[in-house]
Amino acid sequence: MKNLQGKVAVVTGAGSGIGRALAIALGAEGCRIALVDFNESALVETADMLAGAGVVYSTHQADVGDRIRMAALVDEVEAAHGAAHLLFNNAGITLNKSFANHSMADIDRIVNVNLWGVINGCHFFLPLLRKQSEAHIVNTSSMAGFLGLPNQSTYSMTKAAVLAFSESLRAEVAGDNIGVTSIHPGAIKTNILNAAMAADGRDEKTQKMADLVSKMGKSPDKLAEKVIRAVKANKQRVLIGPDAYILAGLKRLFPVALHSLFRIAFDKSER
Ligand code: NAD
Repeated sequence: MKNLQGKVAVVTGAGSGIGRALAIALGAEGCRIALVDFNESALVETADMLAGAGVVYSTHQADVGDRIRMAALVDEVEAAHGAAHLLFNNAGITLNKSFANHSMADIDRIVNVNLWGVINGCHFFLPLLRKQSEAHIVNTSSMAGFLGLPNQSTYSMTKAAVLAFSESLRAEVAGDNIGVTSIHPGAIKTNILNAAMAADGRDEKTQKMADLVSKMGKSPDKLAEKVIRAVKANKQRVLIGPDAYILAGLKRLFPVALHSLFRIAFDKSER
């Protein structure tokens, strides 16, 4: 899709971080935006930013893991904008702890948002996307989609699934003139680790990681620029940030040895 002017973009997780940056960048391209998030006050903050920039938008409070709500969302977006050309399945959460310390409820929560959120978005919006002469889906995976990181087992699992799912879907919908891109950011300066600690309790290890990401992470605005270029070029996958390139490269060169390093680095007290 070379020109985004006048297109309708649905962005999930639009209340913060990457979703907010995508919404702002898409607005600057001339898109109308359907902002989706389950956090209503965060949605309003993003909406105010778009309003200030003169962007046409609608807000939709929704849990992407809720199938019934996601089915209804499609009708809401069509009623508000008459179409959807771009779908960004971006809402996501993480937890920073070993698998042994995950409860089954933790796993359900992460799978529900990170994986079912993407599946629900694609399933329910596909018929509307197919009605357009061209459309594009962007699914947010992670550098953790290429390799299983310690303390991120459920997260890595969902992100690897999003990668494989996006590859399958891309081949299947190409004939409908729908592009599919999976994006694989490294550390990006967002609220994701603070959200993890808000859900699971503050701990020193995660706080240190959050502090490091806020110093060294890439800005979500730069990510959004790169993702928009990728949509225009119909790229299959996009890596974002030096850490994503380094880890993906190491995984290709040392597919097994890399994980031995992780094993050594993994803090035994976490078991
Ligand atoms: P964030 O916490 O800043 O933003 C996530 C947004 O998603 C929040 O507004 C939150 O309210 C919303 N959300 C959470 N659960 C939801 C649900 N069930 N339904 C609807 N909305 C929901 O985090 P972020 O870093 O901007 O994360 C966006 C995506 O980027 C996630 O999929 C994440 O896994 C991915 N990602 C982030 C990084 C990073 O370093 N920040 C790296 C790789 C991938």
